[in-house]
Amino acid sequence: MAERLVKPMPDRDTVAYWQALADGKLVVTHCHDCGHWTWPPRPICSGCHGDNLALDEVKGTGEVYSWIVVHRSTTPDMMQYVPYCLALVRLDEQADIYIPGRLISDKEVHRGMRVRVVPERITDHLGDLAWTTEDVPA
Ligand SMILES: [Zn+2]
Repeated sequence: MAERLVKPMPDRDTVAYWQALADGKLVVTHCHDCGHWTWPPRPICSGCHGDNLALDEVKGTGEVYSWIVVHRSTTPDMMQYVPYCLALVRLDEQADIYIPGRLISDKEVHRGMRVRVVPERITDHLGDLAWTTEDVPA
């Protein structure tokens, strides 16, 4: 379990998302009417504006769309990683869904770099994620 001073603050729309990460899974709001994926979790589909939604598990793979290198941490928890890469990852499930997270890799980052999610347990009910280039399924 990771020690964190600054933690995500779940609300009614995100509590199951943070719980899933604590349980080692990445889930994304999925519309069961039109099939659209929406992130971050919310009660209305961004594709059809319907509400027939569920948090469904995704493969947890994607590619780096953009990134920055953080040289000054804004939170004490992240100071141990400085400098680190904060990547915006486009999920394989849908071309317009992006999830940010710290990139764990010893390779030079580039657009299109294949990554997979690394769920991180903060508490029994709260998780976070990072991305890695190691052992990415084809
Ligand atoms: Zn929809």
